[in-house]
Amino acid sequence: MATIDGTRCSACGVCAEERCPVDAVVLEGAVYTVKLERCIGCGVCAIACPTGAISLARRPEAERDEPPRTLMRWGLARAACRNAHPAPPPPPPAGPESPASG
Ligand code: SF4
Ligand code: SF4
Repeated sequence: MATIDGTRCSACGVCAEERCPVDAVVLEGAVYTVKLERCIGCGVCAIACPTGAISLARRPEAERDEPPRTLMRWGLARAACRNAHPAPPPPPPAGPESPASG
C-alpha cells in the first residue's frame, strides 16, 4: 500500500489524476492522501511521483486478500472494490476563461 509524505508532496496531482488505476489517491482540502482501502499496491504512483513523496509498504498479513488468479477475476475484484469504495465526484468544470487582454 502507498503512503504520501505530505512534507515532500508538491501537490502536482500526477498520482491522482494520471496514474492511479483505482482512484485511490484523493485530494482532501489541499493535501493528497491515499485511501488505503482502495489501494492495490501497484506502485505506479511511486514511480511517477516527481518528488519521491510516495512510499510503499506491505499490508499487515491480516489485511491481505488472495490475489485474483485470472484477468476476469481481477476485473471483478476491481469492480467490487470500486462499488464498495466509490471514487469522490470529479471537481466541477472550470468556468469560462476571461478574454485575453491586450
Ligand atoms: S500503489 Fe497503485 S493503487 Fe495504490 S495509490 Fe499508488 S497507483 Fe494507486
Ligand atoms: S505525484 Fe507526488 S508530488 Fe505529485 S501530488 Fe502525487 S504525491 Fe504529491
